[in-house]
Amino acid sequence: MSDTDPTTATDDTLRTPIVAVLGHVDHGKTSLLDKIRGSAVTAGESGAITQHIGATAVPLDVISEIAGDLVDPTDFDLPGLLFIDTPGHHSFSTLRSRGGALADIAILVVDVNDGFQPQTLEAIDILKRTQTPFIVAANKIDTVPGWNPNEGQPVQQTMDAQSDRVQSDLNEKLYEIIGELSDNGFSADMYWRVQNFQANIGVVPVSAETSEGIPDLLTVMMGLSQRYMKEEMEIDTSGPGVGTVLEVKDTQGFGTTLDAIIYDGTIRNDDTIVVGGLQGPIITDVRALLRPRPLEEIRTEQEFEQVDQVAAADGVKIAAPELGDAMAGAPIRVIRDRDRSEVIAEVEEELAEIEVTTQEE
Ligand code: GDP
Repeated sequence: MSDTDPTTATDDTLRTPIVAVLGHVDHGKTSLLDKIRGSAVTAGESGAITQHIGATAVPLDVISEIAGDLVDPTDFDLPGLLFIDTPGHHSFSTLRSRGGALADIAILVVDVNDGFQPQTLEAIDILKRTQTPFIVAANKIDTVPGWNPNEGQPVQQTMDAQSDRVQSDLNEKLYEIIGELSDNGFSADMYWRVQNFQANIGVVPVSAETSEGIPDLLTVMMGLSQRYMKEEMEIDTSGPGVGTVLEVKDTQGFGTTLDAIIYDGTIRNDDTIVVGGLQGPIITDVRALLRPRPLEEIRTEQEFEQVDQVAAADGVKIAAPELGDAMAGAPIRVIRDRDRSEVIAEVEEELAEIEVTTQEE
């Protein structure tokens, strides 16, 4: 393909990195995601926040508003972060892309009081196996006895404002987590001491209750993506879309639909797609692409609005005939100007991979 030929001209752009949240039950995965969503809505009151299917997009301008002095938006050209809404190992393992995990980066949530637990170790194994870069959110710092909360503040600021006793209690807990990471083969340190996030795991103390450290968490995720994953984020948005099925469900007025995340290219409302199904690839024509209505229009009767196209990385609900057999975790590929049998073969290959992994687990 030549860049100078206008019929095949590419439209290179940087997509949003996809973020997954993992960790032991009750360590705060859901609360942390809720807090990030909540902070994003508050910070973005002037606009910018759109609802998504299966994932929450936090654009760079919103991150920079939440992070204040920690972020200089001119340091970044990635558009923001896309958080997968369903936290946990099952969704992480089911949601795959061709290269491995659908998520580009992960947040491993560890309760500072509880330390490493069985599912923390399980998460570490999954992250190692899929070679997913991650940071550790050492959560619930507000529960250290004597803690004086400073709502929404960067973590070093709020730590400095605590009594010596509280600081030393928290540090002790944080160093235990760093020690456990080291026992599991990861060199780790407080994030502000980490120079190279590829060689070292950054630990970010946070509270999903008081939002302390959330500015830092978003800043570190953004920095990690920008620094080490920019090349992987380069996609051709005019290319045929590639995605993963999050969920197969009935949507009023549209029959069986797919909630999906598109991680490469663009899907259009007149595309023919190949979707992984229980009996093999399903070839079908998109009937509609749906997204939730903007918050301010939610009073209208229809929950969803139709859009012409969706570019990676983003969530979308796809309405098409013949989707009854489609499976969560299965691949979706747009055919458009590609060879139909080649696309079908790719989907078959990806389906075989899913079966192999399911048997292993
Ligand atoms: P998940 O199972 O990992 O998704 O954990 P949840 O988000 O459901 O949290 C489990 C419990 O811990 C809930 O009662 C939360 O309110 C509480 N929790 C989560 N994060 C924090 C935190 O930072 N501080 C405090 N005090 N409680 C928290």
